[in-house]
Amino acid sequence: MNLQRLRKFKADIHPAYHSLKTLLRIDLTKKEVSFEEIDPKIARDYLGGKGIAAYYLFRELPAKVDPLSPENKLMIITGPLTGTSAPLPNRFTVASKSPLSNTWSDSHCGGWWGPELRYAGIDGMIIEGRAEEPTYIGIHDHDVTFKSAEFYWGMGTHDVSKYLIEKESRSRVARVLSVGPAGERLGLISNIQADERSAGRGGLGAVMGSKNLKAITVVGSGDVAVSDAEAFKSAVKRSLSKIIEDRVSMYNLRLEGTDAIAEEVNETGGWPTGNYQKGRFPAGVDILSGEAFKKEMWEDGRKSRPCHRCVISCTHFATVSKGKYTGITAKGPEYETIAMLGANNCIASREVVTAASYYADFYGIDTISLGNSIAFLTECHEKGLVSTEDLDGVDLRFGDEDAFMEAVHAAGTVQGRLGRLVVNGVKRASEEIGKGSERFAMHVKGLEIPGYHPNAGIGQALAYAVADRGACHLRPWMYGREHLGETPRLNPRKYEDKPLAVKKGQEKMALIDSVNVCSFQTFAVSVYRDIYRMVNAATGAGYSEEEFRRVGERINNLTRAFNTREGFTSKDDILPWRMRHEPLDWGALKGQTVDLNRILPDYYKACGWSEEGVPFREKLSELGLDFVVHGMPDLPIRKE
Ligand code: SF4
Repeated sequence: MNLQRLRKFKADIHPAYHSLKTLLRIDLTKKEVSFEEIDPKIARDYLGGKGIAAYYLFRELPAKVDPLSPENKLMIITGPLTGTSAPLPNRFTVASKSPLSNTWSDSHCGGWWGPELRYAGIDGMIIEGRAEEPTYIGIHDHDVTFKSAEFYWGMGTHDVSKYLIEKESRSRVARVLSVGPAGERLGLISNIQADERSAGRGGLGAVMGSKNLKAITVVGSGDVAVSDAEAFKSAVKRSLSKIIEDRVSMYNLRLEGTDAIAEEVNETGGWPTGNYQKGRFPAGVDILSGEAFKKEMWEDGRKSRPCHRCVISCTHFATVSKGKYTGITAKGPEYETIAMLGANNCIASREVVTAASYYADFYGIDTISLGNSIAFLTECHEKGLVSTEDLDGVDLRFGDEDAFMEAVHAAGTVQGRLGRLVVNGVKRASEEIGKGSERFAMHVKGLEIPGYHPNAGIGQALAYAVADRGACHLRPWMYGREHLGETPRLNPRKYEDKPLAVKKGQEKMALIDSVNVCSFQTFAVSVYRDIYRMVNAATGAGYSEEEFRRVGERINNLTRAFNTREGFTSKDDILPWRMRHEPLDWGALKGQTVDLNRILPDYYKACGWSEEGVPFREKLSELGLDFVVHGMPDLPIRKE
């Protein structure tokens, strides 16, 4: 189908409805592509991104599929604001069943790739099967071509981008999404990279690698239409003016990026240090802070390269100008990266953290999981649970920069026992090492815990335990409300108010991840007033505020049902042993541990789920999820 016909096809179906419509289905086994229309009711009920991916994945993926088999599917879906003139409209969702956690998994990536896909007249894609040979897919508007990736196999993501931009660009620059060597070699903490950004968590790079798919390039020549241009313009203007007047967005984030919070998190006693044995890193915080990066490394005219149409511009690039890594330039490093590669490994060096971040992106590895995994193995080694020989001769010690970098390279190339232990995550490493190491294997459902110590906030701890993809700091980001001035403020010691706050926060995040705008705008704008208005004006869907809220709740119930179908129960909503038995060592919350049993029942109740954390049939039906009820006959019935 040529582009003109494709646009006519879209316009003829729903002339006034501008939500997601066109889905590209790619069968790598058969080397076939087809275009499908997304049912307008599905687009309305699930919005985009995470929501639409959850709908298709639940319906199309049988339970218990091996995540690295050709039967697993990789969803890449934009959102109704992606590529429009809304603020920060640059995200797309990558979703699949995770090989790291075996749960539902979605990650969201900024940059330019997502908007470009919409400019090509494609709103999302479902990738199935497995190519016989290393392959990349070239998209030029409606032309979709399978191409050999033999030459690029084994290449780092930076290099493959350079080659493919040169090869695939036409009148516009090609945008490239790719996996690195870690994903090709099925490393379970590998990610997908696009435009120096990452769809980072859950090992979705290994899903792409298992399909022999190295990259997807896209060049579009169209635009994204909205339903009511005047209403959209006015809603966008209102949001933009709020962002421009917001100090956090235009000062903290713009000048110091996400690293702006490092000192504050350290002061709360919640900065994971030495594999979460401590919550403060006094030897490194001044070296790794946003202020220090701004002063020492974000010079040279490369202060910022924002994502598509971003007015905040939080992204910085650091260049190493001294020591053995001189010449390396890496994005950020972002807060999570300095927390996990820096403080959690006791690495008090901007240069080493920048180099490790660069190589993580080059190999295609999630920096959160990487920093967590190396720290876990370091603690195992220091405690004598593994020998230096067990780690291929690498003498891992907290703060040893050279040993730390050896572990990064071993993971990226998936070489030796050390490489395999790191790149397959802490859950598998602790299962292999045994000897009680699972007590300090810092993960939930197999996904490594990020850069906020769970014992420093009951809300953040609960959010980690119940997030659908495993330990996630963004579903919701409770630490901001418990410590960093986000409103409404919450007391990090208190239990009672957390179940409802986490439930509501999860539903709000499900909406943001489905609209697919950068969540940093929510420091200034409201999801239920401002983003809601832009979505209505862009799509013509006419959501009432209540309907819009229900979309978030629907998506959250659908991903919970996905995990239930995979066999996850309330027993998996649990934090590591360390969080329950080793109190926080410093600060106002010194002495705090977390006992989630005090609030999990209330959380389940607030969600409308059984005491075992399973959605009731009535709840799912009420949310329009009858297909879930029909597919899961053992779901509990609510007893009034
Ligand atoms: S705020 Fe930062 S991450 Fe968000 S769109 Fe802008 S540059 Fe990208």
